[in-house]
Amino acid sequence: MTIASIERAAELLASARRGVALTGAGVSAESGIPTFRGEGGLWKKYDPIRVSSIDSFLADPAAYWMVSRERGRVALAAKPNPGHLALVAMEEAGHLIAVLTQNTDGLHQDAGSKRVIELHGSGRMVQCLDCGAREPRSEVQARLDVEMPPRCKVCGHARLKPTVVLFGEPMPQAAVQEAFELARNADVMLVVGSSLVVYPAAEIPVVAVRSGARLIVVNAEPAPFDGLAEVVIHGRSGEVLPEILQLIGALRSRRRKASRR
Ligand code: NAD
Ligand code: ZN
Repeated sequence: MTIASIERAAELLASARRGVALTGAGVSAESGIPTFRGEGGLWKKYDPIRVSSIDSFLADPAAYWMVSRERGRVALAAKPNPGHLALVAMEEAGHLIAVLTQNTDGLHQDAGSKRVIELHGSGRMVQCLDCGAREPRSEVQARLDVEMPPRCKVCGHARLKPTVVLFGEPMPQAAVQEAFELARNADVMLVVGSSLVVYPAAEIPVVAVRSGARLIVVNAEPAPFDGLAEVVIHGRSGEVLPEILQLIGALRSRRRKASRR
C-alpha cells in the first residue's frame, strides 16, 4: 500500500459524479465474518458445492442448516466496521451514488448506505419453498437449536431457505440489471474486498471500464483483474477506506480555499 495510490484514489473519487462501489466478502472480514476465499476463507473448511448449492440444499436441508447455523450466529451479531462507514460518508458527500454488493450480511444497510443493490440476495430473511411465507432470519436462528431443519410457521414444511442466491439458482434480475446500468454510467468504480471470480459480478468492473470508468481496487491480496485498474491498493478495507475518505476531505477543503481566493 502506498500513499501515492491512496492519494490517487482520493482524487478520482473527489471528482466523481457517478461513482459506484462494488463490494465482496472482504469488506465484512473486519466485522468478523469469514470470507469464502483467501486467508482464513470458509472454503478451506467446507466444500462450496456441498454447502452452497440449491441441489444439495434440496437433497438435505438439515446439512445446509448445520453449517448455516454456525455462520448465521456470527453474521447476525456482526456490526459494520470503519470500511462500511467510510462508504456511507462517500455516498453522503456525493462521491458514490450506489453500493453494489455480493454480500448477504446486510451490514451496508446497517451502516447507513442508502442505495444498496444486493446481487446475491439477503441473509436477513428466510422463505418457505412450499408456501412462500417469509420470516426474519433472526427468528429462525433462535429456534435452530431445537428444530433442525427449521419448519415453516405457516405450512409446517421443513423447506425454509434463506433468501440468498445459492449455486444453481437464478440471480435477482432487477438487481443485476440495475447494477449493470450503474456500471455503464459510472465515471469511477471502487471495488472493495472481492476476488471477483463469481459471475456475473466479475463482469461489472469490466463493463464499467469499457464504458469509460476509472477503476480503483482495494483488496487484501492481489486479484485477477488488478491489471484492469488504474489504482490498486492492497490492504484492509477498514483501514484503507477511512484513509481515502480523509484525503478526499482534505482535497475538498483545499479546493474550497483555492476557489475563494
Ligand atoms: P471472496 O471470499 O471470494 O474474496 C474475498 C476477497 O476479499 C479476497 O480478494 C481477499 O483478498 C479480500 N479481503 C479479505 N479480507 C479483506 C479486508 N480486510 N479488506 C479488504 N479485502 C479483504 O469474496 P467475494 O468475492 O465476495 O465472493 C464470494 C461470495 O461469497 C459472494 O458471492 C458472497 O455472496 C459470498 N459471501 C458473503 C459474505 C458476507 O455476506 N459477508 C461472506 C462470505 C461469502
Ligand atoms: Zn410454508
